[in-house]
Amino acid sequence: MDQQLTLRLLSPLDGEIVPLDNVPDPVFAQRIAGDGVSVDPTSSVVLAPCAGEIIYAHPAGHAFTLRSAEGAELMIHVGVDTVQLKGEGFSLKVRAGDRVQAGQPLLEFDADLVATKARSLLTQVLAVNMDIVSAVKHPAGRVRAGRDVLLELTLKAATASAKSAGGTVASGELTVANPTGFHARPAAMLAQEAKRFAGTVRLRCGGGVANAKSLVSIMSLNIGFGDKLVLEAEGPGAAEILAALAAVVTRVLDAPGAEAAPAAAPAAPRAARDPRALAGVCASPGIAVGKAFQARQEQVEAAEAKEEPAAARPRLASAIEAAKAELEILLSKLSAEGATEQAAVFGAHRELLEDPELLDLAEGGVAKGAGAVAAWRGAYQEYARNLSRLDNKLLAGRAVDIRDVGARVLRLVAGVSLKQRELPAGCILLADELTPSDIAGLDKAKVAGLCTVGGGASSHVAIFCRAAGLPAIAAAPAAILDIKDGEQLVLDADNGELRLKPEQAELAAAADRQAAGARRREAAVSASGQSARTKDGKHVHVLANVGSAADAKEAARLGAEGVGLCRSEFLFLDRPSAPGEEEQQAAYAAVAGAFPGKEVIIRVLDVGGDKHLPYLQLAKEENPFLGERGIRLLLARPELLRAQLRALLLASRGNPGLKLMFPMVSEVDEFREAKAALNREAQALGIPAPKCGVMIEVPSAALLSAHLAKEADFFSIGTNDLSQYTLAMDRGNPKLAGRAWAGDPSVLKMIDLTVKGARAHNRPVGVCGGAAGDPQLVPLLLGLGVDELSAPPPAVPLIKAAIRELDHGACQALAAQALELGTAAEVRALLAGKVK
Ligand code: PEP
Ligand code: MG
Repeated sequence: MDQQLTLRLLSPLDGEIVPLDNVPDPVFAQRIAGDGVSVDPTSSVVLAPCAGEIIYAHPAGHAFTLRSAEGAELMIHVGVDTVQLKGEGFSLKVRAGDRVQAGQPLLEFDADLVATKARSLLTQVLAVNMDIVSAVKHPAGRVRAGRDVLLELTLKAATASAKSAGGTVASGELTVANPTGFHARPAAMLAQEAKRFAGTVRLRCGGGVANAKSLVSIMSLNIGFGDKLVLEAEGPGAAEILAALAAVVTRVLDAPGAEAAPAAAPAAPRAARDPRALAGVCASPGIAVGKAFQARQEQVEAAEAKEEPAAARPRLASAIEAAKAELEILLSKLSAEGATEQAAVFGAHRELLEDPELLDLAEGGVAKGAGAVAAWRGAYQEYARNLSRLDNKLLAGRAVDIRDVGARVLRLVAGVSLKQRELPAGCILLADELTPSDIAGLDKAKVAGLCTVGGGASSHVAIFCRAAGLPAIAAAPAAILDIKDGEQLVLDADNGELRLKPEQAELAAAADRQAAGARRREAAVSASGQSARTKDGKHVHVLANVGSAADAKEAARLGAEGVGLCRSEFLFLDRPSAPGEEEQQAAYAAVAGAFPGKEVIIRVLDVGGDKHLPYLQLAKEENPFLGERGIRLLLARPELLRAQLRALLLASRGNPGLKLMFPMVSEVDEFREAKAALNREAQALGIPAPKCGVMIEVPSAALLSAHLAKEADFFSIGTNDLSQYTLAMDRGNPKLAGRAWAGDPSVLKMIDLTVKGARAHNRPVGVCGGAAGDPQLVPLLLGLGVDELSAPPPAVPLIKAAIRELDHGACQALAAQALELGTAAEVRALLAGKVK
């Protein structure tokens, strides 16, 4: 058992004690940098809180770290965001290595200057090596510099000196709040950030430890939702590094959005229905009939001669450089074709070639004289093996990327090329696993579909297949590898089944389904330029949900009649600060430019809830979905709202179809206030205010729709949030995924109320939530009186085609029936035609 000792620290400043929870920076408020307390200072000379050694002095002069004789490492950080002042207003009087006495002046600052230029003067006193601290206590009220105790730390004495000797600092526990865990993208972001520092940075989770500079090493920890992790840094400036990296971890792991699980087929293999059917998961929908073709991976045959390290090292390094150059070419070709997702895969491959763990492993082999070929082969195969052993299917699926990029380098270092096997026309490719490079190099005209033992619904191969419209099954049983080349197969990806030895009738049925599906899609796409009118003549506007000008162009190509929802927050995500007025104006004008003269609805920033923008320094909330989100946040941040409104107004010049709408409106006054802000800016710029709508996403807005309709030019129903708030079911909770459904009778009643309120004042109503892209729900939405549907671009042709098959009168009758029902199951039965 560790003995305990208490370290009492004197206040470095005169002032008022403020708990860390109230510091407007999550890095401090969430104890990411360490635990302690803050002082709202009334003096401006920072005194040493105890005797010790300065172990880090920040070059910007606003912070330093002091190690006490007992081993506690104490960071004093003056102000919030003061690093941005780059030293202005600060005079740090000590350097790393200096020994100081308690009460000695260490840092002086110009309080007036710092107060006007920084977010806050609050000064944090933190223990950063919390692994040796067992308790933190502080008084309340006023303190005097050098006289009163500000902080009392209980130290585990037996561990203190040992831990501190290595200069290691550790963060507090960070909990993974992102439902998809620490997958490739957050891991890559952390690794990239960590590589900027010279010291050692580690990530610990569940007994495992990873090099935080290595994408693969991080991924191999298999960190999932709810896991707790700790960051450790060692070396000069470790505490600062730790704070910076912990902020990255918090940001990437809290943010959903781009990290959200892809909409794909069920994750687990389903049981086969009969012995002639092998079951996997749908990686890309569709059905294909064709002859089996085993795409056995060609082995790179390469001599594994021993080699002097001095000869092997440069040979391997130049093969790696050559592989990077190949990837660069592939990447720019795919980007130029607009295949951004595929390009991103090769971008990740290039990143893997800089992975320090992988390179260290290879260097280990080289140093032992294994030779460049054997050292590289051993390194990447060991890495891939480690990953493929993980339980997490998503991470295990990434082993394929390592094998792919590893084989690329191997080919180059060994100077051999893969023999291309001639593919028979119309084949169904069977493989243990395929790599993104295999798919990119496939003659797709000859492949009807593919089925692999490896992979999953969200693997990169699945993404490629979906983009190429190639039906694919992943996670199939290994028995598929015993199927003989030339055997007839039916690949029913929609149902996740590979059917062996199909009978004539089965083949015919599959061919019919295939032909019908292709005809349907082709017809939908070729008719997508025409309007969507029901059989009885009701015209429905079909628009698209977009996040960028590229999306908008694709939507226009697929027949969208405009943009029903442009999620402007996409422009604000994944960057260190908010975009300026000019950048915003250009982005909105580019989206509108894809639909000259047509309706383009830009939604004003919707953050808060599950959407974080770290640079807004949002206060921590107990229930963020019920807190300052959407319009509430904008009204609390008038400068943010003002910049966006001005950018939208400026973009509306020359784009008369541009409209805007406010998210998460729950009170009439909120909308009045936001609209007044719009009118004010419009007047100041001398530009007429564009049409301005309300998103109906919460029950109060639906209930008050008749009042809101008096004020708003149009409504757009966000069924994703409306379902979440009506049913009190978190839209991101996988356990409730099947139940937070827009077809639930309670949500249908909300939509009905919204439409009735809008009708009373002749306002149009659109739906831009997920329900608008679901052909099953479209009849109900039309029957309830919705005028416009806005769906993701690829769904636009199919939604238009579905509308043309409907009779509006029948939809109204169906909706009336649905409104009488009491359960979601009854609505499903009604839609399936099982209830008359
Ligand atoms: C919705 O809530 O339905 C909506 C369209 O907004 P978002 O999905 O962006 O929250
Ligand atoms: Mg919403």
